[in-house]
Amino acid sequence: MKRLVIVKFHEPALKGKNRPMFIRRLASNLRRAIKGTRVQSVWQAHMMICLSLHEDADWDSIRRRVGDCMGVAKFYLAMRVASNLEAVKALLRDELPKQRFGTFRITAHRTNKRFPMKSDAINREMGAFVEKITGATVRLNDADLEIFIDVVNDGILVYFDPIQGYGGMPVDSSGETMALMSGGIDSPVAAWQMMRRGSRVKMVHFHSHPLVDSSSIEKAAELAELLTRYQYDAELFLVPFAGVQQRIIVDVPPSYRVLLYRRFMVRIAEALARQQGIAALVTGESLAQVASQTLENIAIVDAAAQIPILRPLIGSNKNDIVDTARQIGTFPISIIPDQDCCSLFVPRHPATKGSPKVVERLEANLPVDELVEQALERVEIREFAFSDVRYARDKSTTA
Ligand code: ATP
Ligand code: MG
Repeated sequence: MKRLVIVKFHEPALKGKNRPMFIRRLASNLRRAIKGTRVQSVWQAHMMICLSLHEDADWDSIRRRVGDCMGVAKFYLAMRVASNLEAVKALLRDELPKQRFGTFRITAHRTNKRFPMKSDAINREMGAFVEKITGATVRLNDADLEIFIDVVNDGILVYFDPIQGYGGMPVDSSGETMALMSGGIDSPVAAWQMMRRGSRVKMVHFHSHPLVDSSSIEKAAELAELLTRYQYDAELFLVPFAGVQQRIIVDVPPSYRVLLYRRFMVRIAEALARQQGIAALVTGESLAQVASQTLENIAIVDAAAQIPILRPLIGSNKNDIVDTARQIGTFPISIIPDQDCCSLFVPRHPATKGSPKVVERLEANLPVDELVEQALERVEIREFAFSDVRYARDKSTTA
């Protein structure tokens, strides 16, 4: 008996002419994801991708990696036996005792038209067989267990309930974005959501080191490393921001400082994005969550950028964002206390409705281009690569 993993996708399947490209991309991402887990080969079949496993393949690890691969809607561990129902029956005799169910259904499919029985006949014969050996009853809708029997050209595949993936699109199928990553809960989730839409995400973090300790840098780096799991390599740009902040506090009243910090972040991030050939920024903002995230202030921040600022969490509630952060593994890192640059020299209650006129006047007194240039000159880049060791460590520390 041979073990295979069958991977299904929905969205790429809908994309008409682009479909072959999406499927090729997904297959190539899966190949990167499963390195070192003893998968024998990865190939495309009709509306699915299959992975065949060596006998000693590490299923737990394959399961995690395939589950984290963007574009995978669901997947199954399938067993392949010879092209006859006796072989299927022998397999079910071994496998069904490991399953708990009172009702079941058989879902047969026949792509190998040389097989002598039609799917209906297979359903009937196998349904009667399973009833006889287990005492369970057939139920077509909402059964406890669905038993799939796919008659393919080189044998019969048998598998049970699917494992859910994240769906979406394979990374690298929809362009690159640059995400502004604090060390907070929201921005890593925003970056991850963009990855799930098929974007490769580069990350930029602004820090006030040496005015504060390097804790926010270390958190941003850990988050970038963890997110590498979803896109196989990653780059983090670390921007020293203390110079900009020191200049701002001299001339700008406390209530406007956060807004100006944000506008400078956006300008610097845009310059980096342009250098990298990236056409959009991403933030973790969510409407009305904090003072800087009102419609008025969002407009003021937007006006500092020439390229789009995408805000995937704009309509999300905090508890949903937290749920996602837990699920994808970023939460435990995000809640480590740090010294964030944006809490430096700002009041507890910043302006909720900034005035564009005031912002303009305040910035007229600042050497805007020079400050941006100075920050850009001192950017440090960290690179992260997907590797077995790192993946294993991520999971064990965040599970
Ligand atoms: P987060 O949890 O992502 O930090 P938040 O709810 O704390 O978000 P803010 O602190 O207002 O909200 O930040 C809004 C957005 O601005 C963040 O989601 C992030 O995209 C960006 N941002 C804030 N601080 C930084 C920083 N130090 N470096 C990079 N981006 C930042
Ligand atoms: Mg924050």
